[in-house]
Amino acid sequence: MRILLAMGTRPEIIKLGSVYAALQATRAETEVFWSGQHVELAEGLMELFDISVAHQAVGVAQEPGLAGKFALISRQIEDLLRRKTYDWVVVQGDTTTAAAAATAAFMNRVPVAHVEAGLRTGSIDSPWPEEFNRRVIALAASLHFPPTERARQNLLREGISDDRIAMVGNTVVDALLHVRDRNIEGYVPRNPEIAGLPSDKKLVLATLHRRENVGDPLRNIVSALRELGRDGDKLIVLPVHFNPAVRTQVMSMLGGEPNLRLLGPLQYADFVHLLSRAWTVVTDSGGVQEEAPTFGLPILIARESTERPEVVEAGFGSLVGSDERAIIEGVRRLTDGENPRRVPGVNPFGDGQASRRIAESLADETTRRSETPSAAA
Ligand code: UDP
Repeated sequence: MRILLAMGTRPEIIKLGSVYAALQATRAETEVFWSGQHVELAEGLMELFDISVAHQAVGVAQEPGLAGKFALISRQIEDLLRRKTYDWVVVQGDTTTAAAAATAAFMNRVPVAHVEAGLRTGSIDSPWPEEFNRRVIALAASLHFPPTERARQNLLREGISDDRIAMVGNTVVDALLHVRDRNIEGYVPRNPEIAGLPSDKKLVLATLHRRENVGDPLRNIVSALRELGRDGDKLIVLPVHFNPAVRTQVMSMLGGEPNLRLLGPLQYADFVHLLSRAWTVVTDSGGVQEEAPTFGLPILIARESTERPEVVEAGFGSLVGSDERAIIEGVRRLTDGENPRRVPGVNPFGDGQASRRIAESLADETTRRSETPSAAA
């Protein structure tokens, strides 16, 4: 079985790293295409998951437009698919890289498998352009790996046949457990600023990067963090994303507050270390919503809607949007008392075995296809 794994952003490396390892374990010939949509954010991640990149895209990071990136990526994937035969192109999530690779594979009649399939907000503009990308990938894919029952139901509702769907859990839990277990004993953060954070304050972690939050929503969220930083008992840590619009806005509003630390984006192992220590997280990230339950960590979701309602239903998160008062009150409520609160229950997004299930399913499906060559991919 020969597989092309396409990835281009930080969360894709995190969520496909364990899939890569599981495929290697089944002896599948696995080649990684790296589009380089994120450059600095990916630092250290390939090494962390022991991924070797076979195909490095050219020109994507320098291309300013999303449509231009889409064109560059799909063109370069098409070149690969013309040179060699692949049994699958595997994509993850909802990025431009994933949508472009899936489209190129579909156009070249190479079967597409979609990891983290079936997430939907139901609103094409939110998150933008990810909701569009997910739907495009679902059209192109012939095998869908939803993380949860709800995601599976979303796919069934769109008319995808049940035998094309395998509910496996989210691979982010596999990655998180892998890194958490490596971190456990005497972890020394890579980033010296983390090692130097005061330990007598209640740690509130924040991550903000969504394009649709830039402008008034981001202003309200950052203003809430600034006010919380004045409380004195908390330490707000905000690793600022490299998205230029987010960065410019955050930096123009913050700086110099004693209990608010602006850091660069953290390496994954450092970020996981902070998640394990945090009292709460204010976030608009998808991945963080899926990771927090593993630590029983209560989170405030700075978005109007979430395609991961399981985190709210299971009691780990609440939606606060960009409501300044709701963020301030929510964080204060979750940081009163002497010790961090921990929410009981299991992570609704997975058990850490998703990657193994995906590798097995791809192998089974490849065998089935070879035995029944007429089977529609
Ligand atoms: N993350 C990280 N360093 C940071 C912030 C986040 O490694 O400074 C990780 C986080 O644990 C999660 C992933 O990056 O696994 C989420 O990425 P992001 O929020 O950029 O994207 P999304 O999940 O919203 O697609």
